[in-house]
Amino acid sequence: MNYKDMIKKIKSRPIILVIGGIMTIAACNSSNEKTANTDTNNKTEMEEQNNTALFPRGEKLSNEWFSGTAFLHPLLARDKNNDFALGSVTFEPGARTNWHTHPKGQVLIVTEGGGFYQEKGKPAQRIEKGDVVNIPENIEHWHGATATSKMVHIAVTNYQGDENVTWLKPVTDGEFNEVNK
Ligand code: MN
Repeated sequence: MNYKDMIKKIKSRPIILVIGGIMTIAACNSSNEKTANTDTNNKTEMEEQNNTALFPRGEKLSNEWFSGTAFLHPLLARDKNNDFALGSVTFEPGARTNWHTHPKGQVLIVTEGGGFYQEKGKPAQRIEKGDVVNIPENIEHWHGATATSKMVHIAVTNYQGDENVTWLKPVTDGEFNEVNK
């Protein structure tokens, strides 16, 4: 593009903007108004659907076993066919479980956001929406959000007798900061 063309382009720009403005005003004042509003509504509905959590967040979990703000929405209690508890756990940024073990293991399915899963003595794994974590029995571990992002997972927690978890010490701020570096 030569200099003359550039000047032409710059000069023509305000005209395009003015025409665009008139067309927008015309659209709002004509029979197109209804269509325009419907499009806006559809877009809003789609955004709401994409931002809506799969399950309600449920009740806040005790800070005896969780650090920060975490919630549990129970989905299924153990019954005669299913020897596990099923629930959706929401971890606000910075929230995590204590270190703990499961006598018959646990499966996590991440449904929103991202966080960490860490087994004792191993590097933490970043987990994100769509990830499935198969946690072996009697392995000391924790799971939770990152320092800056929330994480929601479904937990399938198997029973042995009447126990499905043994709670241990909190994940310290030092331990948590280390994996967030
Ligand atoms: Mn666990």
